Amino acid sequence: MDFQILLEKSARNHSHLCPRQILGVRLGLAGMAALGFSEPPGAKRLLVITETDGCFVSGLSAATDCAVSHRTLRVEDYGKTAAVFVDTLTGQCVRVAPAPDIRLRAIDCAPDGSHRYLAQMQAYQSMRDDEMFTVTPVTLNTSIAAIVSRPGMRVNCGLCGEEIMNEREIKTDGITLCQACAHGAYYRAAKHENTLPRDIRQTATP
Ligand SMILES: [Zn+2]
Ligand SMILES: [Zn+2]
Repeated sequence: MDFQILLEKSARNHSHLCPRQILGVRLGLAGMAALGFSEPPGAKRLLVITETDGCFVSGLSAATDCAVSHRTLRVEDYGKTAAVFVDTLTGQCVRVAPAPDIRLRAIDCAPDGSHRYLAQMQAYQSMRDDEMFTVTPVTLNTSIAAIVSRPGMRVNCGLCGEEIMNEREIKTDGITLCQACAHGAYYRAAKHENTLPRDIRQTATP
């Protein structure tokens, strides 16, 4: 795969190419290489679990063809530019993370070390994989089958009634619950009953 074409592919979804996208492309290629793939294997064989969102993921997607919309990319938001690469056929998993001193090395490597951002832009395109990354074999704490689930798996929550896909339900004391009802949600209802209609009126005003 042509590295420059992958950078263009990544930058297409952005107004810019930046060090994090380059890092994402390189880390994506390194992760695939660690599993023995020189290009995306297709047929949803590769699953990537990224540990942050943003520009890094554009690079990761450009290199691996994995996407949230294809259910081949998941986000576990640790705020880290790292990712786990899963071969869903063999079960092999590797975690690829930037070497702890990657920024210092980048500044050392770059021909023009004066500007940090440009130094990273240049160095992330020329550094060797083993200078940039650590690659660690890992085992997932959830089975691949449970993460991927199967098409057509649907139930309704016994409390809120909403539909739950992909076996994300929780079964407690014989009741099937969605994660929000079982553990509490990441949101709560707004306090004032009239908040929603007022907001709608405001946004509808030209
Ligand atoms: Zn960026
Ligand atoms: Zn519910």
